[in-house]
Amino acid sequence: MGAPKAHDWIMDLEAYVPGKATADGVKNPVKMSANESALGPSPKAVEAIKASAAGVMRYPDPASHDLITAIAKVHGLKPERILCGTGSDELLTLLIHSYAGVGDEVIFSELGFSVYPIQAQAAGATLVPVPNKDWAADVDGMLKAVTDKTKLVIVDNPNNPTGAYLPWSEVERLHKGLPDHVLLVLDAAYAECVTAGDYEAGEELVDKFENVVMTRTFSKLYALAGLRVGWMYAPDHVVDVINRWRMPFNVANPAHDAALAAVKDQAYLDEVVSFTAEWRDWLTAELTAIGLDVVKSQTNFVLVGFPEESPFTAEECNAYLMKHGYIVRKFGVLPNHLRISVGTETQNRGLISLVRGFMNGSPDEPDGEAGQ
Ligand SMILES: *Cc1c(COP(=O)(O)O)cnc(C)c1O
Repeated sequence: MGAPKAHDWIMDLEAYVPGKATADGVKNPVKMSANESALGPSPKAVEAIKASAAGVMRYPDPASHDLITAIAKVHGLKPERILCGTGSDELLTLLIHSYAGVGDEVIFSELGFSVYPIQAQAAGATLVPVPNKDWAADVDGMLKAVTDKTKLVIVDNPNNPTGAYLPWSEVERLHKGLPDHVLLVLDAAYAECVTAGDYEAGEELVDKFENVVMTRTFSKLYALAGLRVGWMYAPDHVVDVINRWRMPFNVANPAHDAALAAVKDQAYLDEVVSFTAEWRDWLTAELTAIGLDVVKSQTNFVLVGFPEESPFTAEECNAYLMKHGYIVRKFGVLPNHLRISVGTETQNRGLISLVRGFMNGSPDEPDGEAGQ
């Protein structure tokens, strides 16, 4: 009979590949690979984590009541429609497994967050990747891909790894074209980074319709990635579905208390938002001036296109940056691009010096230094 055997579709899966966090031979590398916040969390969140140590023998509140109340207040939302999770990854996973299984189809952008295809395949569903349009989701392409078997359409808006976004009118058009039985999941992980005036994260559609969910995270500009807290805003019937089988204690005490302090400190978030937008636009301008193709970003990272000819390829630049202790993100599906997260001022300036030196063909004399 042999050993226990998992589903064939699980055995066909390739695990999520995280970005690199170390650089060979470099003591304190500069990590600009995971879209983490360069400024760190609100000092009030750090205080809350310390204070929560006294209570860790207790299970957390299974309803995350205080955090949900605070999120509802800040965003003007109905608290009964909010659920918190162990990062938004948990909520996305629960949504996918609740609505899709063998024989069902899940639509997402070909260049997009890799959690969607991994979880859709883990559920045994059929993957329907749709090529991006101008680096964002292709609304017409997604609508054309819908069949009777479609269960979910998932859109990371703004998109990771491209940084591009869909204006609200396009999101509304996408929703309008979907049959009622299809759940539209708007993953707004980077909503806090957006400065474009025609962007909305999705609350409005959730309040109006029965088939839209928005997910959010404390991992990006709130800078609590290591604590794993996300939330979703969904119609009552979807909240009910997820509440039936989510882990009851899915937000740990320190995570709950830190997120609560962070969401209450909107003044600190505002500073991070301005800083991020300013340096994202600075990186874009500098990289463009060097002669590289930068995708217009509304996130806390930029996707940069390199020439295909050696010695100026993305692969070679990646190796060069790594040698100097700068870690950025390279994707197999994007052989000519690097994704670079916004760092501190010193890190951003150091990175630009290195890329300029590399592209000038004088890569052995960088004027930037790693280590800060
Ligand atoms: C970072 C990110 C998330 C957040 O995941 P968490 O589990 O909340 O850390 C979700 N979606 C996208 C597109 C992301 O880039």
